[in-house]
Amino acid sequence: METRISFLGASRNVTGSRYLVQAGDLRVLVDCGIHQERDLRGRDFDPFPVAPETISAVLLTHAHLDHCGYLPKLVREGFGGKIHCTGATAEIARIVLLDSAHIQEEDAKHKRKRHRKAGRKSPRGYEPLYTLADAEASLPHFSPTRLRERVRLGEGITAEFHNAGHILGASFIKIEIADRDESRSIVFSGDVGREAKPIIRDPVRFDEADYVLIESTYGDRDHRDVADIPAEFARVVNDTVGRGGNVLIPSFSVERAHEVLYYLSNLMREKRIPKLMTFLDSPMAMRVTEVFERHPELFDAEMVELVRRGESPFDFPQLHLCRTADESKAINKSRGTAVVIAGSGMCTGGRIKHHLVVNIGRPESTVLFVGYQAVGTLGRNIVDGNERVRIFGRERTVSAAVERIRGFSAHADRTELVEWITSLKRPPRRVFVTHGEEEAAESFVDLLRGKTGWAVEAPAYGDECVLG
Ligand code: ZN
Repeated sequence: METRISFLGASRNVTGSRYLVQAGDLRVLVDCGIHQERDLRGRDFDPFPVAPETISAVLLTHAHLDHCGYLPKLVREGFGGKIHCTGATAEIARIVLLDSAHIQEEDAKHKRKRHRKAGRKSPRGYEPLYTLADAEASLPHFSPTRLRERVRLGEGITAEFHNAGHILGASFIKIEIADRDESRSIVFSGDVGREAKPIIRDPVRFDEADYVLIESTYGDRDHRDVADIPAEFARVVNDTVGRGGNVLIPSFSVERAHEVLYYLSNLMREKRIPKLMTFLDSPMAMRVTEVFERHPELFDAEMVELVRRGESPFDFPQLHLCRTADESKAINKSRGTAVVIAGSGMCTGGRIKHHLVVNIGRPESTVLFVGYQAVGTLGRNIVDGNERVRIFGRERTVSAAVERIRGFSAHADRTELVEWITSLKRPPRRVFVTHGEEEAAESFVDLLRGKTGWAVEAPAYGDECVLG
């Protein structure tokens, strides 16, 4: 059976993961993400490169937007098949897609208003990519499956999901295509997680694959040590306690907020920091917590033990969940040092902005960054050391301490990627390096070729390869 693969995103760039596998008459899309790089966003507004109604199924590695965020548009434009993924991925994708639709609608509304005021015509992209109704319409297509269970996609074609250790529910996908003559397998890495990551289980490794698509977000560098996180965290918190201020932690709602809670609760229990009022001020993070609580089978041994002892990082005496805006505002009335975890992760919106307004001018408080800050975001302006930043239309002086802990990452670094793929017991026929900036992808191609002598390449957007 002739098998072809087309690279419809995350090819020499990081976001918009979409790979189309065509085996005989069958078309299967692996991941269906949106583009988040400013100059590539236009692609999402173009018609999908193949007619969505001709795709028979989508396989989803995990629930990050750059892997699942295009689904509502695909469904609106005619996709009628199933979206196969793990149960936890389906549950997080639901939260993420509804939130994304809401943000898209709000953004489009604001942009149209700005342009009307300026008397300009609204260019393309000022309509939402999809609406809340579109997102809701995509949900019935989700078809949760268990890890390692075989999903039959067509005559001789199956898919299996294996734990990727990246975020809750994230998986590698192995597709097997068999006919009378031969069988071949393709492994899609999605995003490769890390063995040192807390809470969830480690990524599995494969003995065999004929073809591998491997991400390369950090294909050109190694991370700081995860083992340094607790000590750095304790220092930042204790310094702030000494000054009598608050610790503000801008955080992504999917998993990063949960890792922060994990480290904080451990440090309190180990008495390395005082027992501090801790506010999780993110309704979206709270909804994700509920997904964690429904899937203890995905926890690693340490997390299982914590839960067994009644010491879950998602439920400790000092932890307060702020569901309403009033509960959020009340935080600023609390006395003594409080730790506030709020979205958005790059301070581009959400409740963190209100906490910044109150704390950024206070030299006794700290803004602690635990994630990537993209150029042009408020978070980046703060972390870059600007003396004044604009929040809610007003210039404000940054007097608070600004700190950063770099060890957090949900992605394998260069060394970990090499270890993951070289656990294959026999050389794959071809390796496709995807999901990395141009330099990261190329550097990883060179590194892997040099170490293994395998056929390794980094396809470009729109490339189609026949798997011979
Ligand atoms: Zn991801």
